[in-house]
Formats: sequence, structure tokens, C-alpha cells
Amino acid sequence: MPTQEGIVKYRCDYTQAPALPNDQIGELNAWRKLMVITGLIGQDPARYGGYGYGNISCRLDDRDRPDGRHPFVITGTQTGGKADLTADDYVTVAACYAEENRLVAEGPVRPSSEALTHGAVYALDSHILWVVHAHSPEIWCNAAALGVPMTADVPYGTPEMAAEVARLYAESDMAQKRIFGMAGHEDGVVTFGRTAEEAGFAMLEYLVRAMQLGERMG
Ligand SMILES: [Zn+2]
Repeated sequence: MPTQEGIVKYRCDYTQAPALPNDQIGELNAWRKLMVITGLIGQDPARYGGYGYGNISCRLDDRDRPDGRHPFVITGTQTGGKADLTADDYVTVAACYAEENRLVAEGPVRPSSEALTHGAVYALDSHILWVVHAHSPEIWCNAAALGVPMTADVPYGTPEMAAEVARLYAESDMAQKRIFGMAGHEDGVVTFGRTAEEAGFAMLEYLVRAMQLGERMG
């Protein structure tokens, strides 16, 4: 049974803090809006128990830190249903400890339930600066035909998922394709890249390819 959307499974050391300046979330917010328009992020009473789904993040900066931690900005928990977000809906994950199932966050809202998975993707390569997690039945159901690498069936937002993402990155062509699907998480797909365009267009490209498969089959 695929795991349910929206349930936070990690421990979060959260501190309330002011929102980031608008210019720091502008690009993030524009790409998120595009994902909402295309249905890749959203909320639907008929899907996933009515929980909001999908989230987007980017690293705060591209500096390499000695501790290897990469602070990133992500949408707050249960924002999927909002058409438009403001800086008050974004939160900074200062550090992510996937092996301990714990993260440290500060901002006006608590982070998305999927924040640990985003952190696991950033931990793969310091050149990954953007991550998009969407829900696409089109891509997910056609993953094999599309050549989308899939994780094993492990629950999302757990240390097992983080380890599985690292294994897949090492053993498949996921790094070149910039996409993977989450077998244990219904319709869950993740894309990533050095820029918003790389991560965002990877998602759109696979959606368009999946839609063409559907046309041929239908
Ligand atoms: Zn999800």
C-alpha cells in the first residue's frame, strides 16, 4: 500500500523566524506556480486522502560548506492547495540529517513533509541546487516505458528512502536523466538540477512524453 501524503515522519527542530526577502523566493515561487497550473503540485479531494501534494525547493546559495550541509528553502507543510504562495509560505531547512531522520528548520512555517527527501537529493551532489517533487500519474505509471529510474518500495520521508535515493543515484542513469520515481509513494516523481530550468523542464519534458504514450495507447 503506498504511503500517505502529508504525514511528517521525521523529527524537526523548528524555530519560528521571519520570512525570507521576496527577491529570494521569486524564482522558486514562479516555478511552483507553473507546477500548480500543470497539476504537478496541488490538492484534490479525490487524491491522496485530500492532502496537498508536491513541493519545490532550492539551495539557499551555492557555497560548499565544510560540514557538507546544504541549507535549502522549501515550501511549508500543506501548501499544495494554495494557488499562490508568499514568502510567508517558505521555510529554510538549515541542516538535514537523513541517517537520524532529523532536520533543523527556521522560518514562518514548518517544512513540507517531504523535506527529508529533498535533503537526500541535495546530499548526492553539491552541484544540485534545485529539486522538484511532483505527483504525476502519467509519468509514474509509465516509468518503465519512459526509462525513469524507480526507487525500491520504501516509505517516503524516511532514512530508508534517503539511502535508496543514494543507491539509485550510484547504480542507475538517474544523474544524467535528472529524474526518478518513488515506488512506495503513489505518483511520486522527483526531478533535480543545477538550475530551476534543469529541474523544472525535466519534469515537464517527461510529462509531455508520458502524455504522448497515453495518446498512442488510448
Ligand atoms: Zn509526495
